Formats: sequence, structure tokens, C-alpha cells
Amino acid sequence: MTKVKPPSKKAVLRRDARSKCYWFKAFRKHKAIAAFSIRRFRINFLPQIKEAVTIAHRRLFCRLMDVPFDKLVSLEQVHGANIIKAGPEDLGKGTRSRADEIKGTDAVMTDTPGAVLAIRTADCAPLFFLDPRHKAIGMAHIGWRGASERLASKMVQAFRRQFLSKPDDLVVALGPTIRSCCYEVGSEFHDVFGHFVTKRSGSFYFDLVGWIFEELRSEGIERHQIHDSLLCTSCMNNEFSSYRKEGEKANRMWSVLTLK
Ligand SMILES: [Zn+2]
Repeated sequence: MTKVKPPSKKAVLRRDARSKCYWFKAFRKHKAIAAFSIRRFRINFLPQIKEAVTIAHRRLFCRLMDVPFDKLVSLEQVHGANIIKAGPEDLGKGTRSRADEIKGTDAVMTDTPGAVLAIRTADCAPLFFLDPRHKAIGMAHIGWRGASERLASKMVQAFRRQFLSKPDDLVVALGPTIRSCCYEVGSEFHDVFGHFVTKRSGSFYFDLVGWIFEELRSEGIERHQIHDSLLCTSCMNNEFSSYRKEGEKANRMWSVLTLK
């Protein structure tokens, strides 16, 4: 049997010449924009950065990526596995202040025309979902806690319930995240994640991406439906924020998804 080679970064991503931010080619074919920022867009509400500066950076990124800032749906993100369905009343969340983001959730889906879903990450995985047939989109923020609660699986199940999506209707993408090259964890991770935790030179490393792909596979999503950025936030800390490298002062990248 011949082994299928995974696609390269270049085949999966396009880098915008002006902003240096990235978008996924596979989504453009379906008139969707799935894009993520680099670290110089300081889009997280941090105490040391004025709220107005964060808002200005969010607005700039949306303008450069050609998505409407006023249709944004931004989440509080609490490392849980709660998924919400956003409606017209949710458009504009996160455009004014931190207090304005949708509370208590890490994942969102919608079929509201024009909605721009947004997730911020620094090491955790931003996962993009598109069902072009049912004109529905979704995003999830998945770290180890979300992985332990099988949030990627839950997203596929929620698409099935909410939009009648079949697994082969879905196009999935994975933005920059910490990978098994750098994601050092305690040995107790092995109890939860099994063979997705491996030992190298006396340390344990978690393959968050492998775990997420396995969750998706168990829901009927084939590897060719998943467009992986192949970017590691820790290896490429000059370009992406990494919470594990920078700690509390780390800003975040922003991932946005909209269907035109
Ligand atoms: Zn790495």
C-alpha cells in the first residue's frame, strides 16, 4: 500500500502579502474566509493593553482579511466543552469590550448569514468547520481540557443535530497550535490521552493534533477533509504567540471564519 503524503503548508495556506496573515485555500472555493492572524495583531484583552487598542487591532485584522467587523461573534473562552448556536442577535459580540463577549463558551456554530465567528488562541487549537451544503460554519477553541471532553467530536455531532450535516459534508481546518514537538506535559496526561502522550529523553509530550484528528475520524471525518496549517506556535514563537513560552504576558492569535 502506498502511504498518502499530507499536503504541505503551501498547498493548504495562502499568506496575505500586506498583513502577513494566513487564510485556508480550501475554504475560498466555497466562498468562505477562514483566516488567522500573527502575533503582532494584539487582539486579546490583556490588563497591560488598553481595551481601545485591542478593539483597533481587531478592526484592522478584519479589514485586512475583508470580513465585516460589526458582524463579529467573539467568545469568553473558559476551557470548557459548551457549544452555542449564534443567531442574528449575537452579531457584534466582542466589538466593544471584553464584557461584551458571549459568556461561558469555547465553541460556536451558526447559519446566520454574514456572521463572523472568532476564536483567540496561543497554543490551544483553533478548529474551523464549514458545511457548504447547509451553509453553516463553526469554530472551537481546544486545549487539553477541551480535548479531554472530546469537544471536536461534539462539534461534529452538533452539526449533525443543528444542520443535518453528514460527516462528508464537512470541511475542517486547523490553525497554528502547539504540537507534539513542543507540548511537554506531566506523566498524568498518559492516563487520560493514552498513546497520544509519548516519552522522549525523560519527558512526556502530548500530541493534541493527533488526538483531535482521531476524534474527528471517530465521527466519520476523513483525513483529506482536514486542512492542517502544520504550524507550531512554540517552534515559530517569532511569528505566533505561545502561552507556554511566554506565560501570562502572551497575547493571542485570532482565527476568524465567515461565509460570504
Ligand atoms: Zn514545536
